[in-house]
Amino acid sequence: MTLASGGPRRIGVFGGTFDPPHIAHLVAAIEAREVLELDVVLLVVANVPWQKEGTREISSAEHRLEMVRACAAEVEGLEVSDMEIRRGDKSYTADTLAELLASEPQAELFVIVGRDAAAGFTTWERHDEVAQMASLVVVDRPGQHSEPDPNHSWIRVDVADLEISSTDLRARIKAGRSIKFLIPEGAASVIERLKLYR
Ligand code: ATP
Ligand code: MG
Repeated sequence: MTLASGGPRRIGVFGGTFDPPHIAHLVAAIEAREVLELDVVLLVVANVPWQKEGTREISSAEHRLEMVRACAAEVEGLEVSDMEIRRGDKSYTADTLAELLASEPQAELFVIVGRDAAAGFTTWERHDEVAQMASLVVVDRPGQHSEPDPNHSWIRVDVADLEISSTDLRARIKAGRSIKFLIPEGAASVIERLKLYR
């Protein structure tokens, strides 16, 4: 796909814990890029996903980053960002967007989230700042029917329905079941090598 060049970049920001990353993450990122004609979609790996803290054990940021890198390596238009990990501490999208705009003030930012995340948008730290700095994009997610936060306008992007979650994948791995075709090969090799989720 060729995209307009020269003008300010249109950048998608797709954040997640990615514990582990799976094909539904990649499909959503690729489809959002296509439909919205984004130059790039950044897969932003959360350092401390503060809303998940204390609810379960979370793999180290380095391991999650390594898996996401393995997934996105060959995919045109996707890039992996470690900016939240480099920043350390809790990961707030508001800070991530501000950092992106500081280095590229003209960039047009699009925050891409699944329906579950969109419904909880007002629980995000400084969500009003997020909505000021970026357009909000929601993708459907099977089994999630809640409406995105009504106080903001959302761009809806249709993506293939893939009923896959990291939660289910962790359970599968633990139970010794196959994750083939649910997780890109590269990331599956990282899981195998590091013996994650056993
Ligand atoms: P977990 O089960 O551990 O919460 P997850 O599969 O939801 O993992 P996250 O890293 O929490 O993955 O999600 C990152 C982003 O990807 C969120 O915006 C989420 O809504 C979106 N997302 C995850 N899985 C899907 C899916 N199957 N379809 C559409 N969006 C998805
Ligand atoms: Mg989730």
